[in-house]
Amino acid sequence: MVSRRALLLGAATVPLAGCSRLASTEPGPDWMPDRIGGCRTPDALTSFSTVGGAPLVYEVTGVAQSFRADPRFVELLDAWAADWVSLSGLGPLRRITTYGAFVDKCDSWHAAGRAFDFGVLEHDGGTVSCRYDQFGEDPAQLRRYWQLSASLAKWFTYTLTYRYNEQHHNHIHVDNGISGYDETGFAQRSRVQVMVVQGVVRHVFGLDAPFSGSYDGATRDAVREIQRSLGITDPLRRAPGWQAFLDAAVRG
Ligand SMILES: [Zn+2]
Repeated sequence: MVSRRALLLGAATVPLAGCSRLASTEPGPDWMPDRIGGCRTPDALTSFSTVGGAPLVYEVTGVAQSFRADPRFVELLDAWAADWVSLSGLGPLRRITTYGAFVDKCDSWHAAGRAFDFGVLEHDGGTVSCRYDQFGEDPAQLRRYWQLSASLAKWFTYTLTYRYNEQHHNHIHVDNGISGYDETGFAQRSRVQVMVVQGVVRHVFGLDAPFSGSYDGATRDAVREIQRSLGITDPLRRAPGWQAFLDAAVRG
């Protein structure tokens, strides 16, 4: 009998030059077990060629093509896109380049079809690039990059930016291995989430914060200053406070 995994292996043809391996040391938030690492088989895979109505283009070739992912994960990407378009003020999405979704490799939620790597997003009103390797320290591009990161972090607890490691200098990785299909919250001990907070503090709100990846006093002070100026009373550790902070970052 041919195993389901073998069938999937035979069908795996989409090349993936983005992240294929994730660190297995990232602690999960308190309310969920750490499920990063190990091998997994997707529940189901569907082919998709758009996100938020915008055609997907493989970043490496520049050619429009379809990718595969868990059907519920595709719905999640579309829900994220609607939220991003409504808050960012950039207008409808016209084109998204990507390094891919499903790929049959261990130690990554790509293997479950529940991960996606963003390259460049083109809207009617402007472009947002995840290609830190190309734009470097350009302040305007960094601002948009971290606004996008904030938007993604609201929907995907595991949002990996260029601050995470060199593998992510050309894309932002998202997966819902930790957050599933529930709303996200903030865990102070998550290095991944603290990096998003610190990037937003520095490059969207223009305040000093270290890029330490730990929720230290300076970061806490900067977040409080931003919350006060925006009238956000819910703390970051409560889901409404986390989402209000991220929404404010996306609006800029
Ligand atoms: Zn990835």
